[in-house]
Amino acid sequence: MAQLHDSWDVCIVGSGAGGGMAAHALTAAGVRVVMLEAGPEWYASKNTTMMVPAYASERRGRATKTRPFGEFDACDGGWSIEGEPYTTAPGSSFSWWRARMLGGRTNHWGRISLRLGPDDFRRRSLDGMGDDWPISYDDVAPYYDRVDRFVGIFGSREGLPNDPDGVFQPAPRPRCYELLVKQASDNLGITCIPARLSIITQAINGREACHYCGQCNRGCSVKANFSSPDVLLAPALGTGRLTLLTNAMAREVTVGADGLATGVSYIDKATGEDRHVAASVVVLAASACETARILLNSRSTQHPNGLANSSGTVGRYLTDTTGTDVAGFIPAMMDHVPHNEEGVGGGHVYMPWWLDNSKLDFPRGYHVEVWGGLNPPSYGFMGGIHRYPSGGGYGEALKNDYRRYYGATIGFSGRGEMIPNADSFCELDPEVKDQWGIPVLRFHWKWSDHELRQVRHMQQTFRSLIAEMGGEVFSPMPGEDRGYGISAGGQIIHELGCTRMGSNASTSVVNGNNQAHDCRNLFIADGGPFVTQPDKNPTWTILALAWRASDFIVEQRRQGAI
Ligand SMILES: Cc1cc2nc3c(=O)[nH]c(=O)nc-3n(C[C@H](O)[C@H](O)[C@H](O)COP(=O)(O)OP(=O)(O)OC[C@H]3O[C@@H](n4cnc5c(N)ncnc54)[C@H](O)[C@@H]3O)c2cc1C
Ligand code: SF4
Repeated sequence: MAQLHDSWDVCIVGSGAGGGMAAHALTAAGVRVVMLEAGPEWYASKNTTMMVPAYASERRGRATKTRPFGEFDACDGGWSIEGEPYTTAPGSSFSWWRARMLGGRTNHWGRISLRLGPDDFRRRSLDGMGDDWPISYDDVAPYYDRVDRFVGIFGSREGLPNDPDGVFQPAPRPRCYELLVKQASDNLGITCIPARLSIITQAINGREACHYCGQCNRGCSVKANFSSPDVLLAPALGTGRLTLLTNAMAREVTVGADGLATGVSYIDKATGEDRHVAASVVVLAASACETARILLNSRSTQHPNGLANSSGTVGRYLTDTTGTDVAGFIPAMMDHVPHNEEGVGGGHVYMPWWLDNSKLDFPRGYHVEVWGGLNPPSYGFMGGIHRYPSGGGYGEALKNDYRRYYGATIGFSGRGEMIPNADSFCELDPEVKDQWGIPVLRFHWKWSDHELRQVRHMQQTFRSLIAEMGGEVFSPMPGEDRGYGISAGGQIIHELGCTRMGSNASTSVVNGNNQAHDCRNLFIADGGPFVTQPDKNPTWTILALAWRASDFIVEQRRQGAI
């Protein structure tokens, strides 16, 4: 195995949210870092197709195999990657979305940036289910503040007890259809407030303010939204202390006779060669499940169950967000005066969880994301026109229907909390290997009645909102046989857990500083350490915890402990 001649203070695996933040924080503190990233280099500021109209392409923006969310989407990856399979256990349904590029999924994520609230860190104490985190909101709050200031976020100060306010830039005004949603929400007693997105409406740190082109998922040429390469890695590279190795697929963390990490072995995808980087500290941030895979594949005499796995909990406590969607036709939005309402690439309003679980038949909550409006037409535009009254047909009548109904659809997506369960986890498949001979993951998955009942409530709420706006829902209420329309595990792409935090080394993988119980110079900086899967999308917390763990690494190195 080829050994790179240099040796680094820290080796980071993965350049997405967690890896990018660790690289930024560590290099800013004077640490020499090498980063391994399985995909190629990509910067939205240089490579985005943000302004290309769909009609300029023969595909009209249609999805490709490695861009399942559309030809112009900024993220290369997908539900299946050639040469890198995964398997699901019989009876389980789980989909795993993986990015393979610099910045990972931060190149096209929805930028919904929500802090966890104080209750989210102590759920077991409150309702007896799942587990408490070993840290509290107060431990993370200073880092949320730092992320808000450095990365940038818009929102409004609301004073909600479990949806803490941040250091917000001004939020954009609601669009026309969002005002209608707000009105209906007010009538039904549902809290509806400005969205919280990591898009800057005022220039900061050499980045321009958003000019409201609505194309965030394509990446932003003026760096007004958050992506790891432009916002975190570029300044880290600017320090001269970050060495970036792209197309470098980590295979395992290597350890010395003392059981401590010595570096990472990887495949140079350009040549197929096995290589090794040496480092005093290793930070894994390859995404929750991939990090578990690397640990399980890092077997040695010192760590026969895989690295950091003496508890047997690597791969366990895997969760995803619950989700379901309902859309409807809203006659009040028909035949509107043509106008530009693009705004940012995401909703301008959302509904945080507003109810009291003691009066409901399920624990924990969900938030609601709102969509609709006048998005630029591309492949598949207004598919399903036959569902509108008198819609469909041919020629002029059809074109006129498109004009009348354009913008008259409003939809709701619920995003709720799943409680970790013993039937949802990943492990190494005993037979299947990827193209480099590395054992792959096998997924086990089961939603419990808690999640099913929560999703039934989402469906009922969204139908009431559409009725309140005078609309017609497109699809009938899904029954119990269809899980009330719950998405398959993994499909909301918020997989968390697998290397959870805890103060007890026999039931958790890392401590409250993201440091492996079994190996003091190994840290995990992605969504793996999450103890719970609150309804808040995870990335803001991944960023805050990665920064916090990086400060801890710097301090431990100063003390000579690692
Ligand atoms: C369409 C979409 C919308 C989303 N919207 C939101 C949202 O609105 N809000 C929110 O909070 N979250 C959202 N998410 C989730 C969000 O993207 C993730 O939470 C976040 O990116 C996770 O960060 P990460 O660092 O753990 O992993 P990633 O961002 O996935 O980065 C992991 C990196 O590791 C690399 N890697 C993987 N394996 C290896 C290996 N063996 N060796 C070397 N490198 C490796 C990958 O190539 C990748 O670059 C969304 C995700 C998607 C796909
Ligand atoms: S909407 Fe704003 S942040 Fe998004 S791509 Fe356009 S300019 Fe950039």
